[in-house]
Amino acid sequence: MTQIKKIGLYTSGGDAPGMNAAIRAVVRTAKYYNIEVIGIRRGYEGMINGEFFPMDGKSVANIIQRGGTILKTARSEQFKTPEGRRLAYDQLMNHGIQGLVAIGGDGTFTGARIFGNEYDMPVVGLPGTIDNDLNGTDFTIGYDTAINTVIDAVDKIRDTAESHDRLFIVEVMGRDSGLIALRTGIASGAEAIIIPETNRDINALMDRLENGRKDKSSKIVMVAEGEDAGGAFEIGRQVKEKFPNYDTRVSILGHIQRGGKPSCMDRVLASRVGVAAVEALRDGHRNEMIGIVHNEISYTPFEHACKHHVEINANFLKIVEILSI
Ligand code: ATP
Repeated sequence: MTQIKKIGLYTSGGDAPGMNAAIRAVVRTAKYYNIEVIGIRRGYEGMINGEFFPMDGKSVANIIQRGGTILKTARSEQFKTPEGRRLAYDQLMNHGIQGLVAIGGDGTFTGARIFGNEYDMPVVGLPGTIDNDLNGTDFTIGYDTAINTVIDAVDKIRDTAESHDRLFIVEVMGRDSGLIALRTGIASGAEAIIIPETNRDINALMDRLENGRKDKSSKIVMVAEGEDAGGAFEIGRQVKEKFPNYDTRVSILGHIQRGGKPSCMDRVLASRVGVAAVEALRDGHRNEMIGIVHNEISYTPFEHACKHHVEINANFLKIVEILSI
């Protein structure tokens, strides 16, 4: 057990619902163990600029149900340079900070890993991203809320699709990861799913439209954002060209997927890993992400958590194929 007395806490990269629940858990757990918490606003940018303020149990009251992050978040180019990280380290030293809890995605952890190797500063991370694209946790904080937001929106789109006999191409977030599209595609009864993991192959969609049941009045196609196949509008154009008889529309869900109050699953996940993060720092962990695998807390080195490529379950695609006949 180490004698950590003061820790810094920040959120970084894209915001995700449940980050506030994680902030609350870290602050309250630190209080439980008599550790001071310094909130750092706007991620690494705020760390470099010294945007620090003390947090106590009361400062995180009434935030567990709120989306976004009260610590704000930012992207910092300066932190990618050794000079920027030196400025950040000096700020941490000036404030007597002995350990850090970072809440974010793979960019955040890449920065934390580099920083933790350069300086003697223990950093642990909490997986806060709607993309679910980190190794070492079954789910990331924000993913459950985001997929529920998506299916809620798609259910509404389905109403109009059904009334007008339309085919809707729905674009969801996930530039490098199709995990949002994959799950929401199954949950909303999609005809086909187009994701980066399969190189956004649209042949399965074309095949389904060519040979599938013709008497369906509405059709939903779930597409992960990204440019490889030209994006949802380009896919829509190709479908219109090949199947002019379909009334094809495109809907981009966009930033609504990041917002809203976190689901129960996300609040519980954030609370569990938040408590574990403070305990991990006390136990001498460093350069690790705290996740949950098979319902148990797990510790994954940053370099492994950010492998960039999370395997998709091929069975999910098969399920879409079987259930859309
Ligand atoms: P999300 O995936 O939800 O957007 P993220 O954590 O991956 O979240 P990024 O914008 O990729 O978001 O990264 C957040 C910040 O981490 C960057 O703005 C930068 O300050 C820092 N960072 C990313 N990569 C590096 C790197 N190679 N070296 C140092 N810092 C980095």
